[in-house]
Amino acid sequence: MQTARPEPPIRSLWSATAIAAPSFAPLSGDAQADVAIIGGGYTGLSAALHAAADGLAPIVVEANSLGWGASGRNGGVVSAKFRLSFSDAAAAHGMDVARRMYAIAHEAVDLVEDLVDRHGIAAAQYRRVGQVKAAHNGPALAAALADMEWMRERMGDASVEPLTREQVTEETGAEGFVGGVRSPHAGAIHPLNYLRGLAAAAARTGVRIHEGTPALRIRGEAGGVRLETPGGVVRAKHAIIATNGYSDLTGASEPLRRKIIPFRSAMIATAPLGDNLARAIMPTRRVYVETRRMMRWFRMVDDRVVFGGRGAFGKTDSQSAFRVLRAAMVRTFPALADAPVESRWSGLVAMTLDGLPHIGWIDDRLLFAAGYNGSGVAMSTLLGKYLAMLLRGEKPDLALLDAARFRTVPLYPLREAGIRLVAGWYQFMDSLGR
Ligand SMILES: Cc1cc2nc3c(=O)[nH]c(=O)nc-3n(C[C@H](O)[C@H](O)[C@H](O)COP(=O)(O)OP(=O)(O)OC[C@H]3O[C@@H](n4cnc5c(N)ncnc54)[C@H](O)[C@@H]3O)c2cc1C
Repeated sequence: MQTARPEPPIRSLWSATAIAAPSFAPLSGDAQADVAIIGGGYTGLSAALHAAADGLAPIVVEANSLGWGASGRNGGVVSAKFRLSFSDAAAAHGMDVARRMYAIAHEAVDLVEDLVDRHGIAAAQYRRVGQVKAAHNGPALAAALADMEWMRERMGDASVEPLTREQVTEETGAEGFVGGVRSPHAGAIHPLNYLRGLAAAAARTGVRIHEGTPALRIRGEAGGVRLETPGGVVRAKHAIIATNGYSDLTGASEPLRRKIIPFRSAMIATAPLGDNLARAIMPTRRVYVETRRMMRWFRMVDDRVVFGGRGAFGKTDSQSAFRVLRAAMVRTFPALADAPVESRWSGLVAMTLDGLPHIGWIDDRLLFAAGYNGSGVAMSTLLGKYLAMLLRGEKPDLALLDAARFRTVPLYPLREAGIRLVAGWYQFMDSLGR
């Protein structure tokens, strides 16, 4: 009789393999800053780092530990894209807007590379490995190829190449895809080490960071804002809300809460594979995404398969969501049927109605950036830099990311039911092969 393997604890591969965490004490007593930043993920830390480089004195308050949010738990895929495609952006808003969106997406990847270089974040193990989009059926392949042609002809980006079924098998080691496209504009990173590297760089540049310090409320007062935390008050000229998918921890993120739909995304990682399997699976060691509506993505990290997809609905993890993910991994790579899963974890991505992140002023003292729709490693880093530009009084061309376009989710209290409905419909359509 086969005995079931005990489920591993819910802990990310990244926290199991990360460099030591710098530790920052909770705020105790009152403090003064030029800008108070709520949230210690990539958005908050990048904003702080860039603001400090401009000579400002920022304070970052993080309710948990740095990287506790999506920035410490993501797949580490560094990509130059939005959920809304550039061709759809062009169809709806014109070519100039699509070009600017393309430039923003690429600037984001370049910035990650530049920060890793400039601040010596070697532990992030960043490499521009390129990405393969693997089509799960004919219509999905046709759509991916049409998009590629559009990128070549209209955007002048000839770097994206078509892949035959055989080439996708050579790239991935999986037999089930019918073709795909390959793009060089993507990298792979150790997300938590990147986050910790950014935090160390920010601290060296003079940023004050307080972990275990939830901002409970933001109030306007003469000459600025007042941020209340359990251990003291931060007074600052400006505040930035950088809480993204975790915008319902306290009332401080209230201006964002109803504009964001938190969606749980989950990941698993196998134990290191033996030599033969490690050579056969994803031999080109890029990052790989599928074309299904309920998208899955995968990569190899130190001979482990890391596989991501939809997590449990609701506020907590469920064993069944991880089992579904493992089953999807084994369907994609049947040779992994006996590979033990060593790490399982999940986090919240922030979906928005238009599939785009947004950034800007809430009023004359309060800024925000949020809504990365699951593609935020590079973009949140860039929007942190843009937040610092806005603080300087600059007006970068934000195209479709402008705060004015950030819409409130209608019938917000029904969002959980809405998520289940949409996800169920996507899964149904995927199962029909449409
Ligand atoms: C499982 C998963 C896989 C993903 N994979 C990828 C990927 O491969 N590639 C990609 O590009 N993107 C990916 N993403 C998305 C990406 O990780 C996020 O877009 C990005 O990390 C967002 O960064 P952030 O700083 O805005 O938010 P977060 O990193 O979520 O940080 C927000 C922080 O705010 C803190 N906070 C909340 N409220 C308060 C308060 N009141 N006071 C103080 N602090 C507060 C939270 O504790 C949290 O640490 C993934 C996300 C998940 C969850």
